Amino acid sequence: MNQHPFSLPKQLTPTRETSLPYLEELHQRYGLEVYPEDPFVGVFHIRDNVWAMYAPCTHAVGDNWLYLIEGPEKALFIDNGYGIGDLRALGEKLTGKPVISAVTHCHGDHAGGCPQWDEIYCHEYCADMLHQQMEHYEEWWNSFNHVGEAQHRPYYTEKDKIPYRPYTPLRLPNHFLINLGGDYDIELIHTGGHSPGLSCFLDRKSRILYAGDAFFESRVKGLGVGLNGARPGTLHPESMSISYYYKQVEALAARIGEFDFAMSGHGYIDSPARIVTDVFAALKAVIENPDGYDDVIESHTGKTYIKNGGIADVLYKPEVVRKNLEEYPL
Ligand SMILES: [Zn+2]
Ligand SMILES: [Zn+2]
Repeated sequence: MNQHPFSLPKQLTPTRETSLPYLEELHQRYGLEVYPEDPFVGVFHIRDNVWAMYAPCTHAVGDNWLYLIEGPEKALFIDNGYGIGDLRALGEKLTGKPVISAVTHCHGDHAGGCPQWDEIYCHEYCADMLHQQMEHYEEWWNSFNHVGEAQHRPYYTEKDKIPYRPYTPLRLPNHFLINLGGDYDIELIHTGGHSPGLSCFLDRKSRILYAGDAFFESRVKGLGVGLNGARPGTLHPESMSISYYYKQVEALAARIGEFDFAMSGHGYIDSPARIVTDVFAALKAVIENPDGYDDVIESHTGKTYIKNGGIADVLYKPEVVRKNLEEYPL
């Protein structure tokens, strides 16, 4: 653990969703290391067998969190970032074990590093989306990372980019168990909502739910699970409806006794488990009365309505919610 005063290498400068004081707080608690294998993540050793890695965004939208879990025989990355830097080598160095990777969903801040592996563990709907992305990979990567646009943050060079090579996204069913050796299993729990394949991963041994973009603390203004409905061309659009997400969150909320902490993909980490029941309460309120919002903000998708459930918000558009409920009734 390092003792030097808090400073970050230039490539780790945070953007909107992670504040410097918060990173400093985490540094005090866990230490912060940056390794030559992948200098594009800041590594916090948050549990004996868990590392949280802070990965700054390639554009102005939001940094994210990747997690590495070490099991008895192998280690597992939950999400693999933007596809910049040798994350796999870093995981192997930290654990001394073979490292596999799962992704919570197909977005470029979570699944950009997939070509580092032959197989990626993910929900079947996510696998379908990843196959679609692979068909026009270069174009997809450039557009997600805003290459060539004013807001692009080229803190990396071309040689730091993971070269594309086709990989196999495993089409896993809901509740699939990923075994890390012995009886150490990580359970995939599909939520949908923000993305068709969006899944959390439950580590019952550590009592941690890895939440991806399914649950966020609302301490960052405008950060909450976004329910904007499916865009044309999105596969399995029904799974992005509020009705679908509501039922999945309801089932997960009933299992709240199985975990104490949630680790989100953006914003704050180590959130209390109630983040799930708080989101459920907000969803229930939105479904009962789509016009009963607490706040309205202007976001990149236009006017966005906020319903607060306690420590977590739901971001939505009343017209999309009404349409969802009509098309996919509860
Ligand atoms: Zn996402
Ligand atoms: Zn995300």
